Amino acid sequence: MSLHLLTHPLAAHIVTHLRDETTKPATFRTLAHQISLLLALEATRDLTTRESTVQTPLETATGRVLAKPLVVVPILRAGLGMVEPIVNLFPDVSIGYIGLERDHATAVARSYYCKLPPLAGRRVLLVDPMLATGGSAVNALSVIAQRGGEDLALLNIVASPEGVRAVELAHPRVPIYAAALDRGLDDRKYILPGLGDFGDRLYGT
Ligand code: URA
Repeated sequence: MSLHLLTHPLAAHIVTHLRDETTKPATFRTLAHQISLLLALEATRDLTTRESTVQTPLETATGRVLAKPLVVVPILRAGLGMVEPIVNLFPDVSIGYIGLERDHATAVARSYYCKLPPLAGRRVLLVDPMLATGGSAVNALSVIAQRGGEDLALLNIVASPEGVRAVELAHPRVPIYAAALDRGLDDRKYILPGLGDFGDRLYGT
């Protein structure tokens, strides 16, 4: 089972307010920021560390620091809303971009942009708030793997069972971190109950 659901009560609280259609874009952005922080913490819980000795004002102290560089890759455009909190947590993170646009009539993802930093030897966090059919995530994970990414994790705010199945089938070793697993997709491939179009709600379009 590659799906890891957030169990913190604050995660459930935030998702409920994200779902609420009366939540305005400014609040929606704040909530998206908060839930992305929780997801990033969960997805990096097992990062490797190495010993490091520092001088405190009083004496030397031996502690641990992160050993592996991180890369965050948002799927444009909705994934952009999840980048800033990850940069806040991990200021040294490198950022890549994959542009995949969902055709609203066919729900099939079309690639229009790809710019990635070196990926080998790094933990790569692919971020996309809504895991619906899984088409975009599968596509983006394949691109990242082709470019040398081997330690990958997918971060979604809301996932559908269909999307989780698609990712598990195509990329069985990639863990999925989500704040909610919803009931399924409607005939337009929107997640139910979901929260609507994430990008539209984030940007007020
Ligand atoms: N993308 C969204 O923004 N919402 C959905 O429900 C599915 C895909």
